[in-house]
Parts: sequence; C-alpha cells; structure tokens
Amino acid sequence: RAKNEFRGTFSFFEAGMDAQAQIRRKIETELREAVQGDALRPYYQPLVDLSSGRITGFEALVRWPHPERGMISPAEFIPVAEETGLINAVGGLMLRRACADAAQWPDDVRVAVNLSPLQFRVGNLLSLVVDTLKQSGLPAKRLELEITETLLLEKSSEVLATLHALRALGVRISMDDFGTGYSSLSYLRSFPFDKIKIDQSFVRDLTANPDAQAIVRSIISLGKGLGVTITAEGVETEAEVNCLRNEGCHEGQGFLFSRARPNAEIVSLLKTQGNWSAPSGAALVA
Ligand code: C2E
Ligand code: MG
Ligand code: MG
Ligand code: MG
Repeated sequence: RAKNEFRGTFSFFEAGMDAQAQIRRKIETELREAVQGDALRPYYQPLVDLSSGRITGFEALVRWPHPERGMISPAEFIPVAEETGLINAVGGLMLRRACADAAQWPDDVRVAVNLSPLQFRVGNLLSLVVDTLKQSGLPAKRLELEITETLLLEKSSEVLATLHALRALGVRISMDDFGTGYSSLSYLRSFPFDKIKIDQSFVRDLTANPDAQAIVRSIISLGKGLGVTITAEGVETEAEVNCLRNEGCHEGQGFLFSRARPNAEIVSLLKTQGNWSAPSGAALVA
C-alpha cells in the first residue's frame, strides 16, 4: 500500500534504502529467478507416531539451494515471498512436487504441505488441489494441508467454504504453530480441522518450565476433546518424547527423529523407522 503511494518517488527511496531493504530486494529478484528456473525443492521431515514409533507421514519444507550462498532458510525468504505475492508460485510448485513424490511412497504414508493465507485469497486453491491430486494420482486422504491461526483471523466465509470443500475431498487440515497466533477458542469451533501441531516454542521449554508443560497439557486435552490428532513440533530430546508420551500426545516431529531430507532419502528413512518403536531407545538418524 505504502509502496503504491510512493511509486513515483521510488527511485529516490531506492538510493537511500537501508541495508535491510536492499537485502529484501535482492532476495526478491533472486527468488523470482529461482521460481522461474524451478530451483526450489521440498525436503521432507518425518511425523512419528509416538506410541508405535512408526512414520505416519512427512512434512514438505521448501529448500532453496543457492549457487553462492548454499541452502537458504525459508525463514529468510518466506516473508519476502509473502510480501511480494511470490508465495503463490512457491506454494503451487511445492504442492505439485510433494504430491508427485508422495504418490511414490508406501500407501500408508501421508504428506503435509504448508499453505500461506495468501493462497486462499487468490481464489483457485480448491481447483489447484483437485488438479494436483488428479495429476499425481495421490489419494486425497494422503494429503494434509497445514494452515496457521492467522488465516482464521480473517473470519472469512470463503476461507471457511474452501476448508470444508477440501475436507469433503478427503484432504486433512492441520493447524500449524498452534498457540503462537491470536486465535480464540471460538475459531476452533467454527473452523474444520483434523490436527493440531503444538508450536515448538512450547516443546522446547517442556522439560524445564512448568508453565510450558501446563500449556502443552491443556493443548493435548483440548485436542482430544475435539477429537483431533495432536502433533508436537520441534522434538529434540528423549526427555521431551517421554514427557509428551506421558501426556498422551499422538505424534512428534523434530531433529530427534530426523531433519528434513531430500526425496531420494525417504525410502531408506522409512526402512529405519523400526528404530523409533522402543520407547526408551529413540535412535537418531545421522
Ligand atoms: P513450520 O511449518 O512450523 O515447519 C517446522 C519448522 O521447524 C521447519 O523449519 C523445521 O525444519 C523446523 N524444525 C523441525 N524440527 C525441529 C527441531 O527439532 N528443532 C528446531 N529448532 N527446529 C525444527 P524450516 O524448514 O526452516 O521452515 C520454517 C517455516 O517456513 C515453516 O515452519 C513454515 O512456516 C515455513 N515454510 C516452509 N516451507 C514452506 C512452504 O512450502 N510454504 C509455506 N507457505 N511456508 C513454508
Ligand atoms: Mg508446517
Ligand atoms: Mg509449525
Ligand atoms: Mg513454525
């Protein structure tokens, strides 16, 4: 908005742009090239059933292998992608690749794809998902879409209708980063979803901070009351797994199990999953 107002004088601002703004401009230009050159790739991080140790699915996380700067973190470029609208292209190509890859995995393994609120605004999300499922051959029930609480803040009837239509296809909806947004409990009643992902900030403090433990415990009981799956993000230690298991959390995701990996490593990762089944001996994948 501000940018449009100042468009006429933009070159003036450009000359005086601070370092931060220049970095963002550079990221924007290079990200656009990366999208056009099809350089972005999903990496996959396992979601692990805490009672059996089995992998139930993988979350697709975008990776940008940059020729000079190595792997660029999404934390660095997703905000720029959202500001510039490039997130629609990024989200579209992630969905297509993730569904195509997952269609080759065993048929009890799901894939979770992150959606930006902007992807709901462009209006073609439902047909994008329908077309992508059809092209990839992935059954809808093996696709999970991760949304954040900020999407629900808009209280839009279109968003609500899209979520219902996606679920009617058989796609599962996950509430990502739960507890960090501004959503009120009433949103949980009006919006349909199948999974709550407890944000890693609560999991990180779980074993040291009684308040974090109380919060995690209430999210788990809330989720159970609503009949949804509860996944803990950012699980890094065995102590955390034990605590989460005791609280009745269904699933875990985190460096303890594995970091996100390229698709080529998924099949061998699935073969090692038995290593996690023993509650006391969660084996690390190097
Ligand atoms: P997220 O969706 O909450 O994904 C989880 C993030 O936590 C990932 O960071 C993952 O690598 C990291 N993580 C997993 N386990 C651990 C752990 O044990 N410890 C710690 N410290 N971190 C862990 P990543 O890949 O850097 O992605 C960051 C965020 O960028 C994601 O958070 C998501 O919000 C966004 N993102 C990533 N890919 C996409 C995408 O394709 N589309 C959209 N819209 N957003 C994406
Ligand atoms: Mg996510
Ligand atoms: Mg998250
Ligand atoms: Mg997050």
